[in-house]
Amino acid sequence: MKSLVLERKDELSLRDFPIEREEETLGPRDVRIKLHTVGICGSDVHYYTHGRIGPFVVKEPMILGHEASGTVIETGSEVATLKAGDRVCMEPGIPDPNSKATRLGMYNVDPAVRFWATPPVHGILRPTCVHPEAFTFKLPDNVSFAEAAMVEPLAVGVHAATKARIKPGDIAVVMGAGPIGLVTALSAIAGGCARVYVTDLAEKKLEIAASLSPAIIGVQAGQESVVERVKADTDGWGCDVVFEATGSPKAAAQVFEPLAPGGCVVMIGGQPDPIAYDAGAAMVREARVENIFRYAHVFPRCVAMLSSGAIDVKPLITRTFDFDESVKAFEIAASAPPSDVKMQIELPQ
Ligand SMILES: [Zn+2]
Repeated sequence: MKSLVLERKDELSLRDFPIEREEETLGPRDVRIKLHTVGICGSDVHYYTHGRIGPFVVKEPMILGHEASGTVIETGSEVATLKAGDRVCMEPGIPDPNSKATRLGMYNVDPAVRFWATPPVHGILRPTCVHPEAFTFKLPDNVSFAEAAMVEPLAVGVHAATKARIKPGDIAVVMGAGPIGLVTALSAIAGGCARVYVTDLAEKKLEIAASLSPAIIGVQAGQESVVERVKADTDGWGCDVVFEATGSPKAAAQVFEPLAPGGCVVMIGGQPDPIAYDAGAAMVREARVENIFRYAHVFPRCVAMLSSGAIDVKPLITRTFDFDESVKAFEIAASAPPSDVKMQIELPQ
């Protein structure tokens, strides 16, 4: 089937690509899905421009894409909750259902998890895929395919906010106004935060952040100290939660500075190498530190919040391309235009 294939680092092609038989075989508890919308993720772009992410190396041609929505076109014999014609979004990581991590409820950290577009597993920038019913979620009529393809990145923010154990009225700082920083800010507000300070160096990104909610305050990290700003606004006390969403070691080294005593830091941004950590600053605050790896158990919550209006991701979708323009879309995404948050690709229906 015609797919967007990463042939090797720096080389993409849109071509007919044979998918292994077993990936295309419909099991009794699987559904076959016609893909509709696929978001371009920073990880897809990173595989394109670097050929690897940490230990995951692209050694053979691989189909990209993991942020997806579509329509069920066929169901396995034991599928009970979905039927042909249902509009759905899909959670891209499939754990081993019998693994210890899965049995403990931490299926996202199952070492055996198979995640779309993470070598050697193919992604879904292709016409159809087969996916387990258990990781496929029906969409209410008022959630569009475009919004549904945002559930995957949104899930990271919702998982981070859940791990932070936000209470109504909390003050948060989100370091980084990329797509994950922005969905984290929206999730923090949906979780009850009274105010969220979003820091970044890019002025345009901060403008987008501030436009999302009156509760979001953009702080230009090169011009203003978020620590001084937060301290000034909280009578010197500090914020309740800091979300680190830059993946920059320099930003991560400062995560405790704006934090109030007893506060929580959530590490979201990926760090390929060991980083410095101010243990003393953490200690005098009795700071709690949480780490997240993707997400678990939050897709239905994300869909429910999109449907109710508790979270609106539409302003984050800044460009849409036809499937035929996929290679161009990735070239543009790799150039990281400052006014773009999320680019999506629509497949022919
Ligand atoms: Zn993603």
